[in-house]
Amino acid sequence: MIRVGLGYDLHRLVEGRPLVLGGVTIPFDRGEDGHSDGDALLHAITDALLGASGLGDIGEFFPPSDEKWKGADSRALLQAAWSEARDAGWRIENLDAVIALQAPKFLPWRQAVRDSIAGVLEIDGERVFVKAKTGEGLGPVGKSEAVEAWATCLLSRE
Ligand code: MG
Repeated sequence: MIRVGLGYDLHRLVEGRPLVLGGVTIPFDRGEDGHSDGDALLHAITDALLGASGLGDIGEFFPPSDEKWKGADSRALLQAAWSEARDAGWRIENLDAVIALQAPKFLPWRQAVRDSIAGVLEIDGERVFVKAKTGEGLGPVGKSEAVEAWATCLLSRE
């Protein structure tokens, strides 16, 4: 059996917060606002995996109203969600993601981000891909007021 999953997230970018994408802190003068560390990429990936496995969504698993998740490392959230899917017999064939971010340049960080995600999920880095697009100066992304992320995954089970 194979299943496809889709996840999306958006976070506001504000001064005084670190920019965390895929569990990697990227030097920049602003970062994601959010209840957790605001890692939009990991949140999109978490939702893609939960959606494909039919287990729920990130808001149900980790309610923002719960103080337990305040400032949470999104790698721990992804790990917790994936361990449930893995326990249900699912295996990741591949994950693909797009980030919409005006600045800074993402390419120099791509390999580190791919390795970070693969490490959290305990899969080969070759199964994870991430690319970034700018907002062409348009809208909230183009003005560096927001970062968006989309993720898809293919899961398989015997
Ligand atoms: Mg989020």
